Amino acid sequence: MRTVIIGAGIGGLALAAILQRNDADYIVHERRAHITTEGSGLVLHPNGLDALDRIESGFRAVVTAAGYAIPDDTPTFVLAGDGATIREWVPAPSERSVTIRRAELRRLLHERSERTRIRLGSTFLQYAESGSSLQVFVTEKRIGTRTGSLCQPPLSRDPDVQDFAADVLIGADGMRSVVRRQLLADGGPRPMGLTSVRSVVRLVHDDPRLWGGFVLFGRGHQVFCSPLGPDILYWDVTLRSSHPVLRERVNLRRNLLARDWGWPTCVREIIAAARPEDMIVTALHDRPGRTGWSRGAVTLMGDAAHPMSPFLGQGTNQALLDAVVLAESLGSHGSDLADAFSDYETNRRDCAYRAMRDSRRIGFRGQTRNPLSRWLRDRAVRAPARAVTSK
Ligand SMILES: Cc1cc2nc3c(=O)[nH]c(=O)nc-3n(C[C@H](O)[C@H](O)[C@H](O)COP(=O)(O)OP(=O)(O)OC[C@H]3O[C@@H](n4cnc5c(N)ncnc54)[C@H](O)[C@@H]3O)c2cc1C
Repeated sequence: MRTVIIGAGIGGLALAAILQRNDADYIVHERRAHITTEGSGLVLHPNGLDALDRIESGFRAVVTAAGYAIPDDTPTFVLAGDGATIREWVPAPSERSVTIRRAELRRLLHERSERTRIRLGSTFLQYAESGSSLQVFVTEKRIGTRTGSLCQPPLSRDPDVQDFAADVLIGADGMRSVVRRQLLADGGPRPMGLTSVRSVVRLVHDDPRLWGGFVLFGRGHQVFCSPLGPDILYWDVTLRSSHPVLRERVNLRRNLLARDWGWPTCVREIIAAARPEDMIVTALHDRPGRTGWSRGAVTLMGDAAHPMSPFLGQGTNQALLDAVVLAESLGSHGSDLADAFSDYETNRRDCAYRAMRDSRRIGFRGQTRNPLSRWLRDRAVRAPARAVTSK
């Protein structure tokens, strides 16, 4: 069965690694020219770590060695805006996570597929399905990151466009999936009105709050920090997109530090250590859940199927799980795609949508400025968190 995967992000590469191991016929089209460069840090939670061993036996240990496992007995913190501890706890062994740079995880996944099967600089435009035949149209022409305008028929006569016959098409093309646009025609993702600023920094420190990481709930903003190594940290500040400090991108670090947020010194030190050119600014989006990610021989996975905000740190973990379950469903149903896709969605949908909903709720809860809502929020986070990372 010829499987065409669109997108060599985390989900697409994880699926490619499994198909490679199974000796399957697959090809991945990725619009970017390189695999390893972008993004900052990712947290792999127990559900994502379990998925790694289902991609390849022993892979979890490989990823853990390349990333960072926070030492046992190191507490994690929830802080108030002034740094006061709202909650401090040591994660149980079954709750421990591993952090890794996104680029490193992608590199490790890429190594597990055959290089010639990952077509870099190849942008998906559209597909055509008629009866049992499926054609996939791609171009190597540089057309920017927001594709769509070139999708004018007849593509088959455009000299810059190549077409491939496929038996299955998998849209692993992320938040603004072009495959989804054609498959479900349900518009773009929903803006949350929140913007995240983040980067990875080197910082020698002796603050215990940085050893195991923290979330800080400020007044109308939140800060997240997690170690990627003993002296390497990645941090993220989320603000309303209309916040004045976001207006002047070139002076973002200076403007963040110039304002009196009431932050403890460790937050100011992390941001001061950032190189302005490494700071990534992203407007956050998600979508409401819906039934049906698949039609005919086409399905979606990862952010294309269930784009979510980053507050629960589940986007990558859910994409890894999608890859494992989709590969297993395709493997056990052979050419019966309707049954394979139905199994895949049934297995994945509730869990992915719960992560989407919980992440959105936590994101807005973290932004609240109302004193009563903040008091209720702080009281709620004092209670041990409900396990959201088990599946
Ligand atoms: C550049 C980037 C940086 C990120 N950095 C972080 C981070 O620092 N921390 C974090 O927690 N999460 C980050 N994320 C999000 C996180 O990686 C995803 O939420 C998660 O991994 C889900 O994976 P995915 O495979 O569904 O989507 P993604 O990992 O987003 O991968 C989608 C891939 O599809 C490709 N693509 C899109 N459209 C087309 C097209 N038309 N044709 C061909 N290829 C296409 C994209 O270039 C991308 O490589 C980042 C995502 C991106 C794209």
